Amino acid sequence: MFDGRSKTNHVAVVGAGIVGVSCALWLQRRGFRVTLLDGNQPGSITSSGNACTIANYGCIPVNDPGIIKRLPYYLFSRESPLTLSPGYALAHLPWMISFLRYCRKKEVAKTIQALGSLLLGTNDGLDPLIKLTKAESLFSRNGCMYVYASDQGFEDARAKNQARAEQGAKFSELNAHDIKALEPGLSPIFVKGLLFENARQVLNPQSLVTQYFEHFCQHQGKYIQSHVIRVKVQEGGISLNLADHQSIHANKIVISSGAFSKSIDGIGIENIPLGTERGYNIQYEGQQGRLSRPVAWVESGFYATPTDLGLRFAGTVEIAGLSPEKNQKCLNYITRKSREMFNLTSSPDSTWLGFRPTLPDSLPVIGASPVNENILFAFGHQHIGLTLAGITGKLISELAQGAVPSIDITPFRPDRFG
Ligand SMILES: Cc1cc2nc3c(=O)[nH]c(=O)nc-3n(C[C@H](O)[C@H](O)[C@H](O)COP(=O)(O)OP(=O)(O)OC[C@H]3O[C@@H](n4cnc5c(N)ncnc54)[C@H](O)[C@@H]3O)c2cc1C
Repeated sequence: MFDGRSKTNHVAVVGAGIVGVSCALWLQRRGFRVTLLDGNQPGSITSSGNACTIANYGCIPVNDPGIIKRLPYYLFSRESPLTLSPGYALAHLPWMISFLRYCRKKEVAKTIQALGSLLLGTNDGLDPLIKLTKAESLFSRNGCMYVYASDQGFEDARAKNQARAEQGAKFSELNAHDIKALEPGLSPIFVKGLLFENARQVLNPQSLVTQYFEHFCQHQGKYIQSHVIRVKVQEGGISLNLADHQSIHANKIVISSGAFSKSIDGIGIENIPLGTERGYNIQYEGQQGRLSRPVAWVESGFYATPTDLGLRFAGTVEIAGLSPEKNQKCLNYITRKSREMFNLTSSPDSTWLGFRPTLPDSLPVIGASPVNENILFAFGHQHIGLTLAGITGKLISELAQGAVPSIDITPFRPDRFG
């Protein structure tokens, strides 16, 4: 068991998105000496532009038994929230096939169960960090809403919503009148909805990471602004070679580099099929007063969220890899839909592309690397990384201490793909 005073308690956390910074704070809280490494500003990549929801109800994966039938639609339609680049799909056939395998009913049920168990720990992971860093004012507790523009859309989602309820999600059903009363700013096109009353939102996810990070630095946390290129296991610890030609030594390391984790050599990640689901946001400054909580238009695959920075429309899925080029087709889609949702006439003030780290089974990877027990993995949180960052940090700190994790992490083990 870990002794907080020992000299072997230096942990290097590689990647300072919401997952890495949450791991760093939990480790620091448990007495580890922590160094955080990232060449980019903490929280500035995928963790900055998301839909801001603490979606403790988000146990339903993108994997769906009906997805194969709808593939032609995803490939060719202009009206689909899921876009697939044919060139990318062909070049990454094993990943695509693996993803489709996890669309089978039995596999989807396992994913829902595993995500549900992790989501039950959301508050246990998040609340201590909010308290520690005095971040209460960065949250709003007004619930989250789903809306459907057709009765058919609502009926199609019934089984999924039932599965959500079985995993402990609490919600009430809404009709058109309820929706209008709760969110009068929405266009009157929504006929059914759900209200997740206990859900909350972050008002600006970049500010949350910054607040965590500043607390970390003020409490003897060390930050090195450089990417990690290579890791070598040596007697008595692990050395990390950095992009700026420095090298550092640690007793344990945590890989929390999101969708980019495969770029680090020597960590035993080769057999883990980490991919990415790209997602977009567009933002209208000064328009956040139109809503009082995040509202997901379910059939259209995105949230409208009131943030400190404006009214943000965030979501959609594009399977097209880690290239930084934005796809104008995806931006046009979300812009068109945002106008329908609110009768907006202006153009968005900004657009953004993010990279959700996704495994074919839509479960994160949490646990020790197959090559060394002192290399801990914490990536792959797909659509709910903001929600799951706190509980992931807690679990990683337990593993680093040599304690039994407070949630069964078997479904998330790094060697599950063989
Ligand atoms: C459109 C959209 C909407 C979303 N909405 C929600 C939502 O409402 N609720 C929710 O819970 N989740 C949401 N998500 C998902 C969530 O944003 C992600 O799961 C989460 O941000 C992933 O965090 P991360 O820390 O793993 O990755 P990132 O934020 O990408 O951070 C990874 C970090 O690693 C660094 N890095 C990369 N390579 C190296 C290296 N070699 N060495 C050192 N550092 C490195 C990067 O610079 C980066 O800072 C959404 C995502 C998208 C795209």
